[in-house]
Amino acid sequence: MMSWRLDPKIENILKKGEDCIGLNENEAQTLLCLDLGSKEVYALMETANRISREQFKGKGESHFHIGVNVEPCRFNCKFCSLAENAGVFAETIEFPEEEIIGWAKMAQANNADALNIMTTGTYSLTRLIDIAKLLNKEVSIPLVANTRDITHREGEELLKAGFVGAYHAIRLGEGKDTPFALEKRLRTISVFKDIGLLWMNCVEPVGPEHTVEEISYLMVLARKHGATYSGVMRRINFSGSPFEKVGMISELELARMVAVSRLVMGDVPKAHCTHEPHVASLISGANLFFPEVGSSPRDRHADTGEGRGRSIAACRQMFTEMGWDPDLPSNCFDSVSPAKTLDAAAGAKA
Ligand code: SF4
Repeated sequence: MMSWRLDPKIENILKKGEDCIGLNENEAQTLLCLDLGSKEVYALMETANRISREQFKGKGESHFHIGVNVEPCRFNCKFCSLAENAGVFAETIEFPEEEIIGWAKMAQANNADALNIMTTGTYSLTRLIDIAKLLNKEVSIPLVANTRDITHREGEELLKAGFVGAYHAIRLGEGKDTPFALEKRLRTISVFKDIGLLWMNCVEPVGPEHTVEEISYLMVLARKHGATYSGVMRRINFSGSPFEKVGMISELELARMVAVSRLVMGDVPKAHCTHEPHVASLISGANLFFPEVGSSPRDRHADTGEGRGRSIAACRQMFTEMGWDPDLPSNCFDSVSPAKTLDAAAGAKA
């Protein structure tokens, strides 16, 4: 019969997690290897759940993903449905400005906490900046850029255009399943730090083939570099994906990882994300979802709002069902002054 007692070694790691001082790679690996049905896994999820509810003050965050363009992307990351080699999209689509503004206004009306503006790998940064300027005139939600690696000068331009943060993950299989060097991705993260853009991260896209060493390395890296949030996203195999034979991890496996990454992050993050939105992680330390429209690297639909993408309403409902309040203020953007606020202040003084 299973004992009611927790394994003392696991109990010690969970106590360290509870103290919010963060876990090292070895400790994370031990937790990642726990049996899914074990008492220890539920104790792990309970600990992550408790510290998140306390630290994030019960807030359920929705950061609304708008993918502004579809393009058969020549960078050919293997997990991405927008990759040229995936053969899903033959044509380039730029979603019209009116549609992008309409999505942003709808997000604002539904109390979304941020807009994550995503582009494909070769999209013009000037265009992205124009979109940000346009959105800043129409809505007052913090803007987060999700685009390619950038230089200091480009980062300053993003900041000036009104972005307050940037989503930039060092992916699992970086340099192997993508053409990008890990060092280059890291350099971009230090650019954000230098110029004052918040760095948003996620350990992604996790599949069954990834080792606990690779996963724990990225979890710890996120804490070391001070990510605003860094949860876990599983890889979604669109039909025709090169990973179809490898399969996908389940939501329950994902929830276990979300809990581990929560304890790894300690008191550093302002929120804890997971993707795609699902309920199990909301009792495992996650409090941040990405509802989606426009292009998505996980979808065969050009507008994922008509495909896999979950709506803000659906995310809000999951939060409410699981005891998170989507209407409280966001915890992610307290420490930043958007450029438009600075401009407004400068204007007022002049
Ligand atoms: S993940 Fe980004 S860079 Fe890679 S293929 Fe997809 S759109 Fe291109």
